[in-house]
Amino acid sequence: AQERYAGLRDQPAEALCGTRVSLLMNAGLMADLPSLEGSGAEGVGLFRTELQFLTRNKVPRRGDLAALYQRVIRAAKGRPVTFRTLDIGSDKVLPYMKREDEPNPALGWRAIRLGLDKPGIMRMQLQALIRAADGGPLNVMFPFIAQFDEFREARGRLLEEIERERKLGHPLPSKLQIGAMLETPSLAFAPRQFFELADFISIGGNDLKQFFFAADRENERVRRRYDTLNVSFLALIEHVVERCAETGTPVSFCGEDAGRPIEAMCFAAMGLRSLSMRPASIGPVKHLIRRVDLKEARRVIHEARDSGAQSVRPAIMDWMGRTG
Ligand code: PEP
Ligand code: MG
Repeated sequence: AQERYAGLRDQPAEALCGTRVSLLMNAGLMADLPSLEGSGAEGVGLFRTELQFLTRNKVPRRGDLAALYQRVIRAAKGRPVTFRTLDIGSDKVLPYMKREDEPNPALGWRAIRLGLDKPGIMRMQLQALIRAADGGPLNVMFPFIAQFDEFREARGRLLEEIERERKLGHPLPSKLQIGAMLETPSLAFAPRQFFELADFISIGGNDLKQFFFAADRENERVRRRYDTLNVSFLALIEHVVERCAETGTPVSFCGEDAGRPIEAMCFAAMGLRSLSMRPASIGPVKHLIRRVDLKEARRVIHEARDSGAQSVRPAIMDWMGRTG
């Protein structure tokens, strides 16, 4: 199936209306890196850093992490890489961390909450990232930000580490971009100042959808109950795109749905211009985006919404059937 899209590898994801969408890949393992070439990804939109912490029985050493992050940056050959700081806690317990008993782990002490309360590991990780950048550009994003202060504090921690590295005489990133993952509905309604302070926003659709519909992403009974193309969810995406447009904040989407062609096309129709997905999805998503007029898709979506539909999927499928 990959060969089918090989011819598209060096083509842009440009829709019939002329709109271009950047397609990036998600990664988390060294084994993912060769896909950077094969998939035609414009960069790594999400590098999940959990695995290096979960597969050992003690905290990884800063030097080892820095070397590993540097391999990722080098493999990208100048294309952007966005590292997400450690997203663990509750269900994803590190073997060397005391387990907390929490009745609702997904809503519990995890990700940035843990990073801010127990700063040692995050500090070390931030140092490793700065060293890996080795005087080149560095993009870092913090997971699971639910309110402005969490982002402000996390950003402050990173700037403290930059200052520390400066004092130590180490090279500083030539360009530092600090972003937030938007994974809780609350952040979509944060003050304007949040959107101004963030250098970029990345929508973590897996978590955002779970919290928006109050449906556990791990629970087979409810997981598929709510369509991603539900008019309410698309309205939320559209709202986030508008908030970001007001402040000129770049926004992308990096949840699994970005790798589903119809969903990806609808996100692009809602105004998203950057999508990050598993490498194997880049070909199929690009193939579809190149065949549609996103303005038309947007009109179909809005019409379906105004008609009282629950999901825009039937209208979109019908439209695609008619336009070939
Ligand atoms: C997400 O929540 O959409 C996301 C990209 O992060 P993860 O799947 O690692 O929680
Ligand atoms: Mg998430």
